[in-house]
Amino acid sequence: MKKIVIIGSGAASERALKEIIRENVDTFLVVIGKEKNAPYPRPRLPELIEGKLDDSAFFPDALEKYREKNFLFINDEAVKIDRDKKTVVLKSAKSISYDRLIIATGSEAFIPDIDGVSQDHVHVLRSYSDAVRIKKDLSSSSYPVVLGAGVLGIEAALAIKKRRGVNVRLIESAGYILSRQLDEKASAFLEKRLENLGLSFIKNASIKSIKEKSIVLSDGNEMDSDFLLLSCGVRSSVSLAKDAGLEVNRAIVINSNAQTSDKDIFACGDCAEYNALCPSLISFANESARVASLSALSIKAEMNYESPVFSMLVPSASVFTVGKMTDNVVRKEDEESLVSYYLSDSKILGISAINRQSMMMSASKMIGTEYREEN
Ligand SMILES: Cc1cc2nc3c(=O)[nH]c(=O)nc-3n(C[C@H](O)[C@H](O)[C@H](O)COP(=O)(O)OP(=O)(O)OC[C@H]3O[C@@H](n4cnc5c(N)ncnc54)[C@H](O)[C@@H]3O)c2cc1C
Repeated sequence: MKKIVIIGSGAASERALKEIIRENVDTFLVVIGKEKNAPYPRPRLPELIEGKLDDSAFFPDALEKYREKNFLFINDEAVKIDRDKKTVVLKSAKSISYDRLIIATGSEAFIPDIDGVSQDHVHVLRSYSDAVRIKKDLSSSSYPVVLGAGVLGIEAALAIKKRRGVNVRLIESAGYILSRQLDEKASAFLEKRLENLGLSFIKNASIKSIKEKSIVLSDGNEMDSDFLLLSCGVRSSVSLAKDAGLEVNRAIVINSNAQTSDKDIFACGDCAEYNALCPSLISFANESARVASLSALSIKAEMNYESPVFSMLVPSASVFTVGKMTDNVVRKEDEESLVSYYLSDSKILGISAINRQSMMMSASKMIGTEYREEN
């Protein structure tokens, strides 16, 4: 019986586990995860902060449902991959052998090097335990601030606003918000809707130092802040792979079969990079996990992942983007919604839609087609 070991117990790991069980091949499966209650729906962490979800709804029976299969969950941290012996060494000093290994170690929140960053009222939001700490600290906060107005920063700020009922300020180093997903005009349209929801934005700004009750901005201005959430992007967790001598760029390099530079080791999710893409999105975690698990079973599978689809499902300020932006833009706008079509000649190369969730299904199919007035 082949033994497949998965390091990590997040979304990618769970998807890989499901695929392997579904194939019903005679396999012994081991998942090594350092978070006790994982996997859980990480994108729903803001709902825990808001108070919309409680723990019992947040943690379904996760891995319990796989117990009857040939499956073992080890709640421990993998500290080394020994490729010669084909073993994974755990923090507890135990050693787990494998025939095929899948690395699904995800990513971690990036913490910028700012004077005062290690104080207790400075937070990141990546895990359940982060959310628990945030909820506790927020109860006594009057001046919450979020550094970074990307999607995670915005979602977290809205959750904080709903929990505390106070205005939340976001500090953004770029000249406009969601600058990777939207152009300036679409960004301004969204910003107005988010301001109506209780957020305010300080753009072209960064933090020079963090004090107990205030922050000092890079222009020298000081503002009240007794709670700071850092939302400055993520870094793929690649140290195990790097130490084992696997090829790593921004993340662990995988080919179209989700195979790393070692033929018996596969990688998926936030820790993997395919065709220079490392989008840190659930859609990529699912696709790369599907291919990694089938490949680990020696079943032919190829990655089918091109341009990432992006969505932020905030009521009255939802965003959906697909494809890429160009300088030739046609807009369709009304009071509440804005759709931007990005063209090359008359072909649609990209679409962004604000408050038009109904387009989510159809937009991807429009990429590469001719633009028509009735779109
Ligand atoms: C607040 C928030 C909101 C988000 N919203 C969205 C969204 O709306 N849409 C979207 O597409 N994506 C969203 N994401 C991103 C999405 O959650 C990730 O892309 C996804 O979780 C990646 O899954 P993964 O399994 O690769 O990594 P992770 O979910 O990070 O899981 C990796 C797991 O491996 C464990 N691990 C790491 N190293 C080791 C080790 N050495 N030994 C044992 N265990 C280890 C970690 O503790 C972790 O439990 C959001 C993320 C956050 C934090």
